[in-house]
Amino acid sequence: MNILLQVGYLLTAILFILGVMRLRSPATARSGNLIAASGMVIAFIVTVIRYHSFSWGLIGLTLILGAIAGTYAAKKVRMTAMPQMVALFNGMGGGAASLVSIGELHSNWVHGISSPGASISALLTVLIGSLSFTGSLLAFAKLQEWVSGRPITFGGQKLFNGILLLIAVVLGIYMSVSGGRQDFTLLTIYVILAAVLGFLVVLPIGGADMPVVISLLNAFTGLAAAATGFLLANNVLIIAGALVGASGTILTQQMSRAMNRPIQNIIFGAFGKVASGAPGAVGESDGVVQTANVEDVATILAYARNVVIVPGYGLAVARAQQEVRQLMEKLSERGVNVRFGIHPVAGRMPGHMNVLLAEADVPYDSLYEMDAINPQFPQTDVVLVIGANDVTNPAARNQPGSPLYGMPILNVDQAQRVIVLKRGMNPGFAGIDNPLYTNPKTSMLFGDAKSSLSQIIRALDEV
Ligand code: NDP
Repeated sequence: MNILLQVGYLLTAILFILGVMRLRSPATARSGNLIAASGMVIAFIVTVIRYHSFSWGLIGLTLILGAIAGTYAAKKVRMTAMPQMVALFNGMGGGAASLVSIGELHSNWVHGISSPGASISALLTVLIGSLSFTGSLLAFAKLQEWVSGRPITFGGQKLFNGILLLIAVVLGIYMSVSGGRQDFTLLTIYVILAAVLGFLVVLPIGGADMPVVISLLNAFTGLAAAATGFLLANNVLIIAGALVGASGTILTQQMSRAMNRPIQNIIFGAFGKVASGAPGAVGESDGVVQTANVEDVATILAYARNVVIVPGYGLAVARAQQEVRQLMEKLSERGVNVRFGIHPVAGRMPGHMNVLLAEADVPYDSLYEMDAINPQFPQTDVVLVIGANDVTNPAARNQPGSPLYGMPILNVDQAQRVIVLKRGMNPGFAGIDNPLYTNPKTSMLFGDAKSSLSQIIRALDEV
């Protein structure tokens, strides 16, 4: 029997790895998800057989409730709310790992079992899992705008957090070396400290950086799960935890590289809290903004040879992906060469724009990554920026001191003409002005992106 269970876990691990590999491309992502999900089903069945002393009623009930909540959330969630959903799921993972370890510690202490190795593993999981739980919940609340997305800071914050962490570490070491003693009061204080710490670490981080933080917390949750795997001698938990930990770490690194900001700047930099008077602060730029009407835009696009469309978060908010595909088709029929320039952090999560455009059947081969499209801008007649702001902000290139300075951007200002579709002059997530809008090459068409695109498509029939 034992060998069968081990084979079941091995199969699960293989399915998880295959699933993650297929998530790398939008074309194979759906099947990757299904493969990983079937791995999870096998892991569940094997675990239930292995620990057959479970209450079947409770297992069935939690399974049904979890399946209903998961299916409902996955079907209902809007693309723009995906980071919140990931934060919530991640928090649940951290919380679950923490609870399992608290249960193990409790059981060991009640039975007087003293094993420093198991205690260290369990206490580490409780610390990371509880921190990840409250941190993810606060990240969720910030993204959902239940609390302000702006960084919330107070004097001596880092020192205070450092002291709390030190106390938690000292408590953890004390409980590990004095293993077997039933010190539940200390354990409770330890859990509360970890939970408060998770909350305080996320508090000063602005909404714009939240996807990076979620990815980092995701890596933490993976570590917590792997540590729980060691505690329970469960290989599949170790492998799954390591996969989550590694992918979360790689994603965090990739996002911080795409924003050209070291991870310590994201965690401790309170990005998004732009002081008035700082380079690029809202309202500081004094150029003239040129506006265009729908007919002007349709004419400019119709007579262009090369058009690059740059989508951003506003496209996702407006849910205008179908309209953008229709515009592409309309222009292509007229012989215009239409391509898309995709910035790695356009939108609110990595791959946000690729997923949106794939949903509307925009061909993958018309999507160009930043490094591929940037050299093409000087030969581009028109760039149509749709709801993108920070990822096109030239201040990132030429305004030292700007919060965006150093972030690689799409150099749309190097094209012959730029048309920007957005609702008004609101800043992007970085909270700063965009000098692109006062560039003499730029014309703004104000309005919701979906409605503006529909009007442009209609107007093209008249050109
Ligand atoms: P931005 O957040 O910079 O700008 C989006 C713009 O869209 C706003 O200025 C807004 O202006 C406009 N907008 C909003 N709703 C609509 C609508 N219905 N119709 C038309 N326009 C609309 O988006 P970007 O994609 O350019 O940049 C992404 C930002 O997120 C960057 O700062 C990036 O660093 C950050 N980020 C992204 C991550 C990722 O993985 N993708 C991770 C972490 C951070 P207005 O209200 O005037 O219409």
